[in-house]
Amino acid sequence: MAFVDELTIIARAGDGGDGVVRFRHEKNREFGGPSGGDGGRGGNVYIKAVRDVHLLARYRAQKEFVADRGEAGKKDGLTGAGGADLDILLPVGSVVTNRATNEQFRLSQEGERHLLLAGGDGGRGNESFKSSTNQAPRERTTGEPGASGEFFIEVELIADIGLIGLPSAGKSSLLNALTKAEVRVGDYPFTTLEPNLGECYGFIIADIPGLIEGAADGRGLGHKFLRHVRRTKLLVHLVSAEGNDLVGDYQTIRRELARFDENLLTKKEIIVLTKTDLLPDQKTIAAAVDKLKKLNPQVEAISLLADDSIKKLREKLLTLV
Ligand code: GDP
Ligand code: MG
Repeated sequence: MAFVDELTIIARAGDGGDGVVRFRHEKNREFGGPSGGDGGRGGNVYIKAVRDVHLLARYRAQKEFVADRGEAGKKDGLTGAGGADLDILLPVGSVVTNRATNEQFRLSQEGERHLLLAGGDGGRGNESFKSSTNQAPRERTTGEPGASGEFFIEVELIADIGLIGLPSAGKSSLLNALTKAEVRVGDYPFTTLEPNLGECYGFIIADIPGLIEGAADGRGLGHKFLRHVRRTKLLVHLVSAEGNDLVGDYQTIRRELARFDENLLTKKEIIVLTKTDLLPDQKTIAAAVDKLKKLNPQVEAISLLADDSIKKLREKLLTLV
């Protein structure tokens, strides 16, 4: 499933309920005292962090969030019920910016909750206008409107494992093989236009697309996604056995990472040699693995045609995260 990492929504807190005009009905008196209650408060709008990376994608269809309004006041001086608050659930890692005020909220922990917009106050019922000079007021006020605003939401993807590598290294194919994600796979370089996520035993794996030369300068597609790499615990660096220069292919990607952020080079990494079925024999595979081991001692060799190799890699990844 594709991962949406930016979204603009409109949110509105509930309006306050109106105050009402009522009079008590008492025996032997045409009019009792004023008894109209105040309106209830409108519901507030909150944002709340949950662990669900696909939430923003679901909000593609729903861009407006409105909390309930307060009830009107009642007779006997009773205040109307308050409108229910509304929690907008967002993935952990979301940053929410109020477009008008630039106020920003960062959701970094599961369960964290912030008030985004306050509901409107309820209006006053006529009972509250009673005074020594006005025993039978017919005044009341309407509820205040709830606050509203436009919010820009950005998510820094929190994947445990990031798949990196040159175009066609086999990232999307591996994500599909390891998880139930259904990601398009193709022979052409830019099949993956946005990061794709999959889940494997509770770990989130991201296919980070388009890491090519120039990505760190904003030239490639990859630039937009490089920031996602920052928060992963483990980088899985795919090198295709098809390449004529495995070490060069590896270094191209390492250079891109460094140009974006030097710290990425110290992140825990394993190398995965992919498409080993395209090599003629075991000896050639072993030689390729040895070459890569000089770059990083942790090397796994896989082929999508060999289930065992995928299973072994999955177990290895689980021990590393
Ligand atoms: P990405 O650009 O890194 O996401 O690469 P893809 O997953 O789209 O794969 C690129 C091409 O390599 C596709 O045509 C895949 O079918 C093919 N491919 C991926 N893994 C293997 C493999 O283990 N063996 C073979 N023979 N082809 C593979
Ligand atoms: Mg791909």
